[in-house]
Amino acid sequence: MTREPLSLFDTTLRDGAQTLGVDFSLEDKLLLAEQLDGLGVDYVEAGYPGANPTDTRLFSESRPFATKVTAFGMTKRPGRSISNDPGFQALLAAEADAICLVGKTWDFHVDVALGVTLDENLEAIKESIAAVVESGREALLDCEHFFDGYKANPDYAVACARGAYEAGARWIVLCDTNGGTLPEEVAEIVGAVVQQIPGDHVGIHAHNDTDNGVANSLAAVRAGARQVQGTLNGLGERCGNANLTSIIPTLLLKTTYADRYETNVTPEKLKTLTHASRILDDLLNRAPNRHSPYVGEAAFAHKGGIHVSAVQKDPRTYEHVPPDSIGNVRKLLVSDQGGRSNILAQLDRIGIAVPKDDARIGRLLEEVKAREAVGYAYESAEASFELLARRMLGNVPQFFDVDSFRVMVERRHNALGELVTISEATVKARINDETVMSVGEGNGPVNALDNALRKDLGPYQSYIDDLELVDYKVRILTGGTDAVTRVLVESRDSEGRRWFTVGVSPNIVDASFEALLDSINYKLIRDGAPAP
Ligand SMILES: [Zn+2]
Repeated sequence: MTREPLSLFDTTLRDGAQTLGVDFSLEDKLLLAEQLDGLGVDYVEAGYPGANPTDTRLFSESRPFATKVTAFGMTKRPGRSISNDPGFQALLAAEADAICLVGKTWDFHVDVALGVTLDENLEAIKESIAAVVESGREALLDCEHFFDGYKANPDYAVACARGAYEAGARWIVLCDTNGGTLPEEVAEIVGAVVQQIPGDHVGIHAHNDTDNGVANSLAAVRAGARQVQGTLNGLGERCGNANLTSIIPTLLLKTTYADRYETNVTPEKLKTLTHASRILDDLLNRAPNRHSPYVGEAAFAHKGGIHVSAVQKDPRTYEHVPPDSIGNVRKLLVSDQGGRSNILAQLDRIGIAVPKDDARIGRLLEEVKAREAVGYAYESAEASFELLARRMLGNVPQFFDVDSFRVMVERRHNALGELVTISEATVKARINDETVMSVGEGNGPVNALDNALRKDLGPYQSYIDDLELVDYKVRILTGGTDAVTRVLVESRDSEGRRWFTVGVSPNIVDASFEALLDSINYKLIRDGAPAP
């Protein structure tokens, strides 16, 4: 039986970024887009070009993605021509594969929030969609407050949706903007809409205010919608958006959906889901929710004799799907089997082949456990994990040693009478039995240390010339006076490769230094620098 295509639209970078306390940098956005592209999501809504410098730059970067990078913006302002609407022009100027416009479809909102007539709003929607289509881009309409609008004035809500469809929109997305609609209402309303607009042009965009974001999305699919919008980890304002991290595995692993629908997420790509979910948490400096369905650390954890022995006989006794299908691992809390398979999976991902029963795996596991207990985060700092693993497997040369470093921070008035803070660092390193002392200045202690460390690495200098620090994240792990600092550093080189390293110490400069050293050593290994 042929399966119907189902389109997946991710809005983590746009709607998810509305979340309180979330502020993605350009690098964060590119990294997440890469994960989503690797997962096989059809569209990544990346932001509002023209609205802020990050999003404007994002749409001018080259992006070798299969996923359609989508720009978001408003329909044109009623009573104004498109050529006279600077916001709309910025949107048309963006290098986007598709443009998603949000338009009002609830008569109450048109009246109160826009203060224009219903006809003016409808015209604005049609003209805006037509302008996007004319620009050669794929057009989508997010029908804001569609479900509330439909309940208040079904004819008008549907007229807006149909108007956009007839103007050439590829997808008409029904949004439950306030998130209060229940699954049975979604089923009924989507069922009515697909009588007027073909279901393979209808999408669902649900919010989670009654904890039904996932249920509403699935209800819409069953009622005929063929695009699902949501975010990784359900990130989003208030109670979040529909959680793609739960929806995607449900669509692939549950036969009621898998037998009928087909997405671009292959079983192989699905195995990257847990990793993508953890990367988002790390970028947000959040501890992952252990109890998240499918991807949480506890989702396949079994404790207690009877459960564990049954799972060992046949995992289906207490697991609804195999954990490795989403890249998660089973945890049996009476042994370290879970830990071992976790380590083996990580080694496999970075391309280190080790026999399953190698005794060094056990030692590496103990070391990782001990380090994670004091604050290291190897799930995201894969370069640091790789270094640690290669060291324990005995194949990392000691390129250089750092004997000591010293950092000074001075706050003073300069010759112009301005208050300035300057940092200066001295690093004493040993390379081939030769001691090298370098001094660097910077706008902060870490920057100064980085400059000093990379000033003179002798024979290795050419390997690190193109190394660039992209991002630097600090997290204080415990409260009180014995707080520990974790520093995550993201680096990249001229070939566009990027990697993460981690350092942990009660002292922030020390933690940073450790992460910097890992980054340099990782680059040397990756580029095949010769042992001294
Ligand atoms: Zn939304």
